[in-house]
Amino acid sequence: MQSGAADALAVVHEHILVCTDCPLHLKRIQAVPGTGPATARIMAVGEGPGETEDRVGRPFVGAAGNVLTKLLESIGLRRDDIYITNVVKCRPPGNRDPELTEMEACSHFLDAQIEIIRPDVILILGRHALARLLPGAGGIGGLHGRKVVRGNRLYVPLYHPAAALYQGSLMRTLEDDMLKVRGYLNEAEARRRQPGGAAAPSHPAAARAPGEPAPLPTAPTQAEPLLRLVPPGPGEPVLRPGSPDPSEPAPPPEPPDRDQLSLF
Ligand code: SF4
Repeated sequence: MQSGAADALAVVHEHILVCTDCPLHLKRIQAVPGTGPATARIMAVGEGPGETEDRVGRPFVGAAGNVLTKLLESIGLRRDDIYITNVVKCRPPGNRDPELTEMEACSHFLDAQIEIIRPDVILILGRHALARLLPGAGGIGGLHGRKVVRGNRLYVPLYHPAAALYQGSLMRTLEDDMLKVRGYLNEAEARRRQPGGAAAPSHPAAARAPGEPAPLPTAPTQAEPLLRLVPPGPGEPVLRPGSPDPSEPAPPPEPPDRDQLSLF
């Protein structure tokens, strides 16, 4: 079953690498599908590849990647155990923000990756990924570190690791939020261990017969219930989607140029 999921994920990667569905393919060196095991219990989703990622073919390399690695290690996780990808798989020229049409053209790849991996927790890195994955949920300033459930998926928005490079005080916020992620993972693991807990990931593409052409895994088709916030725990402030969090600093501006970040 696990190798089947890995095969299905490899098929998605193959489609991404040759994709020409939006203009971002015109200027890329290569597409950056994602890295990590199909069995990952955690998935991290950023905005898009930068200059170094475009050249290397891996997401979150360079300075922001180092921050992400250290954050994961701070709660006992190894980067190699996490599946890491972006909303768009090709670098926007000049590191501009991806356009809505580009994100829409690329969205079925991310949907397929999520459906195959079925992670316990999806870490949303930064406001652009938040807008794509949880549209209408609110801003990163109010949602960071919070559990947000949509359908059968658990999301945790976080400030983008690159933001900590520009605003040092956010590193502490990121570290505190990662401790919360550790708690969420422990809860998910406890549920998994219960009788009748979550099943191992699987996908129809994993069940194809030998020699059968590999179709691109399709996105989930069932209607998802409205987004809901998980109630805060004892002592946690009550936040509503979109409301600012008075205990946190104002959201930093997005890094002006991912090229610079990738140079570290
Ligand atoms: S960004 Fe996505 S949709 Fe656009 S060319 Fe790259 S893989 Fe295809």
